[in-house]
Amino acid sequence: MEVLVSSHAGLCFGVRRATRLAMEVRKNHPGPVYTLGPLMHNPQEVERLAGLGIVQRQSIDQCVGGKTLLRTHGIPRRQLQLATRLGIDLVDAVCPRVAVVRRYIVDFGRRGYQVVLVGDRGHPEVEALQSYAPGEVFVASLPGDLERVAGDRPLVVLAQTTQAREVFDAVVSACRRRVPQAESICTICQDAGLRQVEGRQLAARADLMLVVGGRISANTARLAEICRRVQPRTHHIETAAELETIDFTGVKTVGLTSGASTPTWIIEQVRQRLSLFR
Ligand code: SF4
Repeated sequence: MEVLVSSHAGLCFGVRRATRLAMEVRKNHPGPVYTLGPLMHNPQEVERLAGLGIVQRQSIDQCVGGKTLLRTHGIPRRQLQLATRLGIDLVDAVCPRVAVVRRYIVDFGRRGYQVVLVGDRGHPEVEALQSYAPGEVFVASLPGDLERVAGDRPLVVLAQTTQAREVFDAVVSACRRRVPQAESICTICQDAGLRQVEGRQLAARADLMLVVGGRISANTARLAEICRRVQPRTHHIETAAELETIDFTGVKTVGLTSGASTPTWIIEQVRQRLSLFR
């Protein structure tokens, strides 16, 4: 069985950077090291980091007394204010590409624009971004989610960094039907975009497609969905152990890719287990 591995599989730039920062803090700081929420949406990697003393906390008040990493998605403004009030020693591991979207939201909001953010309601990145807006932010995951947008005010369309390009384009078109002068800046991260493009290409060449990543990882689920549209035999798995439950009958070529928060060691375990299959 041939295994085609995506050149974009593994951690994205932002998660790699956050992990490196966490390791540096762990090395140089003798006291407790915390992350507010999971540092990435991958339970196996979060568990590995916990084993090294980088421990996940669910709320700000549990972080008192420790150095605390802000994860790649950022945290809502109110939590940041609370952390400052409590004197928590914060380490900013927010992805610079997410920070760019935040700056756009603040800048356009101050200039009186309505902001349409193409994203998933309730996703931590979206919630954090919304919280810094000086004006209105409408979250749209479909072109139909625009009922509350006013037709007579300036409008800009931005995107959650891991959104699918087709959805962004569809929402921009819908916005322009409502506000013909609507502006748009595609803030989809290049990493997420390239992963999707290559995932689609691999899915077209493979008899079966594997997308490795945490079940709670929205970008992994989206990537699997994109691949499934091309290759219906697409499976979203977290670990190599799940390969045992998959039917490989008639499969000569397997495509292998991952979400942005899947470390290389998990992909390597999957690849090695696949090499034992005939
Ligand atoms: S997917 Fe892109 S924006 Fe999101 S954390 Fe990774 S590098 Fe940053």
